[in-house]
Amino acid sequence: MLKEKIYLDYAATTPLDTGVLESMLPYFTENFGNPSSIHRFGQHAEAALESSRRKIASILQAKPHEIIFTACGSESDNLALRGAAFSARKLRNANHILISPIEHHAVLHTAQQLAALHNFELETLPIDSYGAVQPKDVAARLRPDTAVVSVMHANNEIGTINPISEIGSICRELGIPFHTDAVQSAAHYPIDVNALNVDLLAIGAHKFYGPKGVGLLYIREGTLLESSLTGGSQEFGLRAGTQNIPYIVGMAEALAQLHNEHDQRKNHVTALRDQITSKVLEIIPDVKLTGHPLKRLPNHASFVFKGIDGNNLIMMLDVEGFACSSGSACKTGNPEPSEVLNSLGLQPTWGLGSLRVTVGKSTSLEDVNAFLAVLPEIVTKLRKL
Ligand SMILES: *Cc1c(COP(=O)(O)O)cnc(C)c1O
Repeated sequence: MLKEKIYLDYAATTPLDTGVLESMLPYFTENFGNPSSIHRFGQHAEAALESSRRKIASILQAKPHEIIFTACGSESDNLALRGAAFSARKLRNANHILISPIEHHAVLHTAQQLAALHNFELETLPIDSYGAVQPKDVAARLRPDTAVVSVMHANNEIGTINPISEIGSICRELGIPFHTDAVQSAAHYPIDVNALNVDLLAIGAHKFYGPKGVGLLYIREGTLLESSLTGGSQEFGLRAGTQNIPYIVGMAEALAQLHNEHDQRKNHVTALRDQITSKVLEIIPDVKLTGHPLKRLPNHASFVFKGIDGNNLIMMLDVEGFACSSGSACKTGNPEPSEVLNSLGLQPTWGLGSLRVTVGKSTSLEDVNAFLAVLPEIVTKLRKL
């Protein structure tokens, strides 16, 4: 008999909200125009595009022309890093890129490619045992030839929040563009680009009940970027290609809903997450919380269990009907701890046994209790193997 499926992986993606879907539907059918067209079909599409841009800008405390629509959070990170790096090289011969060592691959691999193929000098910041970057470490490494700094707002694997506002103000003093990947945090914190002191900020809609395949990059007025998708003059010349109107409308609606329900959602997920964290640490021996105990995403619990393989844990949980995630980089074969857990200095006997449990607005206390009822037995079973 098939067991009920319980989704505890909201940091990977979230289901599309039905109200968000409703808002998108007319733009697949009757309002199908190209926003660059002059006729009324185009005008209708353009009106939807620009009203979405205004709606989003006002929620993020930005100006409408500071919002660029992209195809995902990853693309926004790519445009931020590549765009700022090439522009800084052109304008002031700056070739130094400074990032945290536990950035999402969308930032990390982009920076690594800039170093490998384009001779940028890539430097990674130190992190503390919770995975957080210290502002003083940024200050000590900034140089006149630093092209761009990128530190993620909240880490997807271990949930830790970075002191973005402090880091941003240090970069601003020296006029160095500062990017933050807010793809995780935007689902849980009211983003204010001014309070955060950022020049560039990436968001993807599918982490907050919007559609997959759409994101945005906030670009502070005066921050110069080279476009990385060249072609037509859409998105102020920074991102060519006909805009995906239904998805952009959906992202704006998802962000507006989030904005309205922010406190309610936060309280709901925090209570469930705290239940998971306290019970797991209480009833299972040889387990550690990864990431910061307090300065972390409110829906995010992450652990390492000594002496087990995290992938086996995920698979056994899946058999029992629970969808969670592991920090482990390999899906099969010779398992290795993730880069993030390695950067935290965890020994492999611990680092291999990682588990990430992330809850969302439709997770119930029954779901959490059912999960907590099966987890200890599975861990015990795996330790006997
Ligand atoms: C999910 C995620 C991304 C990638 O976003 P996509 O929209 O899936 O491309 C980037 N950074 C972080 C921190 C994420 O969690």
